[in-house]
Amino acid sequence: MAPHSLQEEGFVGHSNFSFSTPPPITVLASSRAVVSGRLTEATIVISTNTGKITSIFHSVLPREDFPPGTSYTDYSPKILIPGLVDAHVHLNEPGRTEWEGFWTGTQAAAFGGVTTVVDMPLNAIPPTTTLSGLKEKVAAAQGQCWVDVGFYGGIIPGNDAELKGLVRAGVRGFKGFLIDSGVEEFPAVSSTDIRKAFAALAHEPTVVMFHAEMIPPIAASVGDDVQHSLPPLAPSGPLSRYQTFLDSRPPSFETYAIAEIIALAEEAAVPPPPLHIVHLSAVDALPLVRAARARGLRLTAETCFHYLSLAAEAVADGDTRHKCCPPIRERANQDALWEELLRPDDPAVKTVVSDHSPCTPNLKLLPSRYPGSTGREGCDGDEGDFFAAWGGISSVGLGLSILWTEGRSRGVTIEDVVKWCCKNTAKQVGLEHQKGDIGVGFDGDIAVFDDVAEFIVSSSSDTDFCARLTVAGRAKYNAVP
Ligand SMILES: [Zn+2]
Repeated sequence: MAPHSLQEEGFVGHSNFSFSTPPPITVLASSRAVVSGRLTEATIVISTNTGKITSIFHSVLPREDFPPGTSYTDYSPKILIPGLVDAHVHLNEPGRTEWEGFWTGTQAAAFGGVTTVVDMPLNAIPPTTTLSGLKEKVAAAQGQCWVDVGFYGGIIPGNDAELKGLVRAGVRGFKGFLIDSGVEEFPAVSSTDIRKAFAALAHEPTVVMFHAEMIPPIAASVGDDVQHSLPPLAPSGPLSRYQTFLDSRPPSFETYAIAEIIALAEEAAVPPPPLHIVHLSAVDALPLVRAARARGLRLTAETCFHYLSLAAEAVADGDTRHKCCPPIRERANQDALWEELLRPDDPAVKTVVSDHSPCTPNLKLLPSRYPGSTGREGCDGDEGDFFAAWGGISSVGLGLSILWTEGRSRGVTIEDVVKWCCKNTAKQVGLEHQKGDIGVGFDGDIAVFDDVAEFIVSSSSDTDFCARLTVAGRAKYNAVP
């Protein structure tokens, strides 16, 4: 038996090997690994037959402890972590593959140590709001995926009869919008639609998520109508000024939407499944989430790499690379998001995801003075218009580096990152027994993280985005619904 054996299910120590051909295992070792949430020395043995971790030793065993020919790499002092589970990614195939498809999006994920992505139900055509739409998605993904891919279903007006079938087919959860989604084939839901969805999914093993922005009732002509794709508040200044855009989607949009979701959940005759707020930006909404959790509602929230690393004060006029919804808010808001994540007692925000949402470069309407601009192509005179530009930031392959770069000065540890981006995201989508941790029986999804290397992200000669680095994710090739 090898020394310091932590667990050895399905695997016996080196002295028992008598293979004449290399055994069907891959061995990864490092002086630093995050195993069961704790930084430790580790040697990890993965079956190449099943792809599962078969044993873990709490020390760096030498190559000689394994049979000749065994695939063995000691990555010391780089850190072995569970591959990230990015629970919020938009891959737009079929239908808008030129924005981002499975082939490119999952390569970007693997580059950034993300070994599982869960695809949002909108921006592809058709959207994943029906069983047939899901089948088209899965078919489009075949043979194209460099990491594991899961799929969400969508909640739109009138599709409540589809929801159970989508659960049976394996979707990892559902998402609905309380405000215009930006694409016409995925309309926003009303309170009535949400009640129907809660009823349809009440006893299902799933999670129901919301894009929680909603126009508060500020005029007489309110009621359910305001939830139906009306535009955000009318712009009150130059359209190329970031402040104008920020003012048009104030924190009250988020607090009002979240209050509405909580009210509908708490008045439901049968408790709904666990609920989740995607890409929470406004910290004003946190007390609502915390209070609902204290009352027993199963409600969590996520925030995104960009809300934790970019601030409104630094966004220059016309720099539409920063457009996303809800918007990137002020530095004080960003500080409070970090504080929430780092709360020792039950934070409302439990996960950090990318909300990777690409488009073709021309749809950003980026002025030529900014890197990545396509010039005047497709702009029609609205260059730098924050209202006309596509909203979305694409960081699936960069999140680990961004979080580490920003988090180090705030006392963030690698164990924190693993909790937010691996363990808790896996739990959110029901994969906590398979992914998000390094443990015996888990998928052998390991990322190798170099916490001191640096690289520059650039588009052509652009050098304005500097990040510290990730190295590798283990690439896999199957698409699983
Ligand atoms: Zn999204």
